[in-house]
Amino acid sequence: MNGSIRLPMVEIFETVEGEGTQAGFPTIFVRLFGCNLRCVWCDTKYSYPPIDAERTMTIDEIVAEVNQYKSTRICLTGGEPLLYGEHSLVLIEALVTGVDRLVDLHIETNGAIDLAPFMSRIHSPKVRYVMDYKLIGSNEGGQMKLTNLDILRSCDELKFVIASDEDFIEAKQVLEQYPTRALALFSPVWESMKPERLVQLLLEHGLSHVKLNLQLHKIIWDPATRGV
Ligand code: SF4
Repeated sequence: MNGSIRLPMVEIFETVEGEGTQAGFPTIFVRLFGCNLRCVWCDTKYSYPPIDAERTMTIDEIVAEVNQYKSTRICLTGGEPLLYGEHSLVLIEALVTGVDRLVDLHIETNGAIDLAPFMSRIHSPKVRYVMDYKLIGSNEGGQMKLTNLDILRSCDELKFVIASDEDFIEAKQVLEQYPTRALALFSPVWESMKPERLVQLLLEHGLSHVKLNLQLHKIIWDPATRGV
């Protein structure tokens, strides 16, 4: 079956994870093509139309390519990697069973996909969810599946990308209204929110349970560099 399911792909590459609890660890990125949102500050616009997918791959081919690298961590990303429902689920299961050295498989998902069907079917403790919560500044603020916040676990991460002071206030209110077990991460939009300002806001508002999240790859390489 895994030899017949094909998924539209952008790229598979190895680098260090740039953010979240795994930041700095060597990681294999599996980037699927396609997204159901169009965030104004998106930095992976090459991962959805009008550009075409660079290729399609079977799930067996994806697992084989991942196994050509040495890293023990995988980041499944996009676009939106859970866009393909059952096929996304089969891919996750195939990576868990097909990559023997796997330590951690984290799935970067955009918050507009219901995580319940995935969480009820995937039981490996190696699989974690890193959910982006899209705020007003993304222009996709109304798309969030709020039920996800209640089912995220302490091993999962809830990331807010903060473009402005208004975004910060909204993120704070979301955490107050929808308590979650996931680790809350606040990440500045590189072009519009200075990290110093975000630190200042975190301290002023006493958000001791929130972690500042800086994207390492934008510090190590030119922010526009792709595949790093
Ligand atoms: S959800 Fe992610 S990939 Fe999709 S438009 Fe927003 S930032 Fe870009």
